[in-house]
Amino acid sequence: MAAITLDNVVKTYPDGFMAVKGVDLEIADGEFVILVGPSGCGKSTLLRMIVGLEDITSGELRIDDQVVNDKAPRDRNLAMVFQNYALYPHLSVYENIAFPLRLTKGQFSDEEIDERVRKASSLLELDEHLERKPANLSGGQRQRVAMGRAIVRQAQAFLFDEPLSNLDAKLRGQMRTEIARLQRNLATTTVYVTHDQTEAMTLGDRVAVLRRGELQQVASPRGLYDQP
Ligand code: ADP
Ligand code: ADP
Repeated sequence: MAAITLDNVVKTYPDGFMAVKGVDLEIADGEFVILVGPSGCGKSTLLRMIVGLEDITSGELRIDDQVVNDKAPRDRNLAMVFQNYALYPHLSVYENIAFPLRLTKGQFSDEEIDERVRKASSLLELDEHLERKPANLSGGQRQRVAMGRAIVRQAQAFLFDEPLSNLDAKLRGQMRTEIARLQRNLATTTVYVTHDQTEAMTLGDRVAVLRRGELQQVASPRGLYDQP
């Protein structure tokens, strides 16, 4: 778990387009921040810079008190959950969840991997589906496997990019409750991108509103719409 600080962070794409225009944001250790704003305002760009999939043009990104601008994604130890799940179709649920640990080649023993996979799948109520393949799971179950992969690493923070947007309304409601419960249990720092008003109003400690690459306001969900 860690605090994440953005200090005047700018992203200019190679074609000259400035997608993020000097964002300042301090996310406390264990805090749940929702990032909202219209399509194209720079939400994904910001998440991708935090996780390390996109270079920062200028400004500073710190995890706890360390500047991580030039660190590779794997050295930041942040876990990103995408809307399209990105599961491996030929691997079982168990192996999908274990995958990030196997990638570290020898850092974890088989016993440790097994212990972590079982703990994550129990938290997500996937225990009974460990041998199944993603194709045989429901949308909600697939989303849980994707979350299991984030949890199993015991990452310093979770970054969600519209994780529920491919689910139907009922499942979305269930998963919303589950994500809120998980985040409370694990107390992992979380940045969550959504354009869903209900998610924005119910999930986070604070909501950050992004427009055309600039932070317009940061407030508690209740304070957000009461301002002059
Ligand atoms: P959001 O996630 O809020 O929909 P994005 O971060 O995906 O927004 O995009 C922000 C802006 O940056 C958009 O105008 C988009 O077209 C532009 N953009 C994204 N990726 C690139 C890129 N690789 N090159 C140039 N412009 C890009
Ligand atoms: P989202 O709306 O979910 O952020 P997009 O469809 O905007 O996704 O972008 C998908 C991918 O295309 C991203 O990797 C983004 O960086 C890239 N992209 C978006 N806009 C542009 C652009 N104008 N030029 C080049 N690449 C872009």
